[in-house]
Formats: sequence, structure tokens, C-alpha cells
Amino acid sequence: MSSDTRGICTRTIHGNLLPDPATGAILTPIYQTTTYVQEAVGVHKGFTYSRAANPTVSALEDVLGSLEGAPTLCFSTGMAAITTLFLSILKQGDHAIISDVVYGGTVRLFRQVLEGVGVRANFVDTSDINAVAAAIEPRTKLIFIETPANPTLKLTDIAAVSRVAKKAGVLLAVDNTFLTAALQPVFELGADISVLSTTKYIEGHNATVGGSLATKDETLLERFRLVRKTIGCIQSPLESWLTLRGLKTLSMRLERHSNNALEVASWLENHPSVARVFYPGLESFPQHDLACRQQGAHGGMLSFEVTGGTPAALELMKSVKLCALAENLGAAETLITHPASMTHADIPPATREALGIPDGLIRLSVGLEDAADIIADLEQALGKAEACSSTAYVASVAS
Ligand code: PLP
Repeated sequence: MSSDTRGICTRTIHGNLLPDPATGAILTPIYQTTTYVQEAVGVHKGFTYSRAANPTVSALEDVLGSLEGAPTLCFSTGMAAITTLFLSILKQGDHAIISDVVYGGTVRLFRQVLEGVGVRANFVDTSDINAVAAAIEPRTKLIFIETPANPTLKLTDIAAVSRVAKKAGVLLAVDNTFLTAALQPVFELGADISVLSTTKYIEGHNATVGGSLATKDETLLERFRLVRKTIGCIQSPLESWLTLRGLKTLSMRLERHSNNALEVASWLENHPSVARVFYPGLESFPQHDLACRQQGAHGGMLSFEVTGGTPAALELMKSVKLCALAENLGAAETLITHPASMTHADIPPATREALGIPDGLIRLSVGLEDAADIIADLEQALGKAEACSSTAYVASVAS
């Protein structure tokens, strides 16, 4: 697959799929079936039962594999993919190193499920390569990084961590949900496993939940397949069909998401009610050089801190009209989230603050609308947030 010299658009539109042999249909049909009739015991066309494999899911795995440049398996959700990854690699007493800023569900999986069965993890600042090297223990089996990280956009140098991991004989998995291989080809940077929540940019239309794992290691791939079949978390054929459709425009969508996000981030940077803006494409972003080295473009995710803290943040969330107040990201519609009270509410306030997720932080998944309309909506909502924070300030001084 890595010898595929076609461009990203061609690969995400076609993969290696052919028209349906029975009808000539250009799109792979939705094979809504659990059961496949066998010609004789053990003689079949590669499908027996849809918990193990399904032709529509296999079609998505083919196209996603073309994008990743590595064999790929699809799961019912991103969390199902991450759970399969951990269960496949870590046994009781084993240890993992995980980026300290990651999707809240990954933290919850470890803290509330896996630690209970004797698997340990250290949440480490993986942007600091010395901290990664220092955290490796004799029983460390996996380094799991998320870059850019949710919601601070902090970056990890994938190639540098890969060198440390290889030296120690530890596998490196990268959650590439924010950029995908279209903007960040993680295998070229030395990763062993690529993890995606296909719920986000891959499908891109707020219509499905799904996940994937890709690896060039055949033994590991077979292990993922076994765990998926055993715990029963394969993707459904309808979700796969919708995701195949979304994938066809991935590259074009990401280009527009990136352009819109840069325009919105640059505008926010000059707004008096905004204390800080985090977007890897901005020259002011502390890791801008690494972003330019590692990322083809900088994607649609940004975050910013309003000067008025929680009251201003909540007023902003209430006042937006075009931007939708929602927990998801990576779709056509611009979505706005308050991590402290939504996606990262499980994390204690002091830890959140230390991780760079203050109460006034807002996460924006910049959509595909016209940038001017997104900016106009933020302008009117920030005006209301500003008025609310000055009223709160006057009230607190008076009391
Ligand atoms: N990884 C990242 C970076 C995410 O943002 C999310 C969800 O928001 C997940 C994984 C989990 O994916 P899913 O919601 O599809 O289970």
C-alpha cells in the first residue's frame, strides 16, 4: 500500500474499489446482513458473520487503508478503536505512557476501567521528549500520543518520540483524529499505529460515530481483528457507507477548514475580549515551527481564552447563533464547546488549569461556512460576553 503513488484525493475517492460486480453500481452497496451462506463447510467468499467482517465495512477499510498507507480496521466508535488498541497490547501489570492533554474519554478509559484490571498509565507531557524518555519503565509496552491535542492544540514531535520508542522497544500509537493522514502522515513520521475517531473529519458531516486502527505490523493487525471480533465492536454497514461517502471530499474539506480556521484565529487574536488564541497555523503559536515541519496544513480546530473567565465563556456559548453549542468536532457546521464544563468536566479544576485548560477556554471546530459569517457570529456573541463580564465585575465590586 505504501507504494501507492496516487494523490490523496484519488486515494480517498477510489481506494482500490471496483464497481459492484453484480450490478455495476459505482458505490459499494450497504450489505445489511448478518449472515453469509457457505457453499460447503468452511467454503465461503471471505464473510461468515458480520461481527467478524462485512463487505461494506471492508470497502471502507480498503479506502481508509489507501489514505493511511497501511492496512486498516474499522470500529463502532473511536473509543471502541482505542479500547481495542489497549486491550490488544496491554496485559495485567503492563504500563503505558499517554499524552497529558488528550481526549477526556481516553483518560476515563484508563482511570475508570483499565486501572481496575491492573493496567497502569502515566499521563506525561509528551511535548517534552526528555519527560517521555524518563517515563519509560521495564513494563512499558505502548506510548499513546494525541497531536494536536484536544483542546489546547499542544503538539508532540512524532518523529522524536518514535526514536525514543524504537530505542526502548515500545510501540507508538498516534491519535490523528484532528488532522488525519491527509495532513499528517503518521507512518512517515515513525508511528507504529494510527488511531482515528472517524466520527470527526473522516466522515465529516455529523452523521455517524466510528473509529479505526491502522498498522503495518501484520501480527498486531491480526490481534486487533481478534479482539474486535471477540468484544464485538465492528462498525455497522450503514455507518461505513456514510463514511465512504464523506471520505471522498476529505482533502478538499480539510483545505477549507484550515483556511477558515486561520482566518478566524487571526481575527480572534486582535479582539480585546480574547486573552490568548491557540492555533498551530498562527506565528504566535509556541510550537509553530514544529507545526510547519510536521503538518501539511493546520486543520479546523482552534481554542481561545476569553478575558472574562467562566461568566464570559458561558455567555458566549449562550449567545452564538451560527456556531452550534455541541460536543462534537470536525464537521461542516462550526461547533463551539466549553471544555471545562463539557468535554473535560471529569478532570479536577486544578489539574485542568495545570494542563492549560482554564475556565475561560473555548474550543472552536471551525466549519465550512463562509469565514466572514463565522466571524460576524463570534463578534456579536463576544460583545454580549464582554457586557456580561463587566456586569459581573461591577456586581462583585459592589458586594
Ligand atoms: N480521539 C479524539 C481526539 C477525540 O476527540 C474523540 C472524541 O471526541 C475520540 C478519540 C473518541 O471518538 P468517538 O467519539 O468516535 O468514540
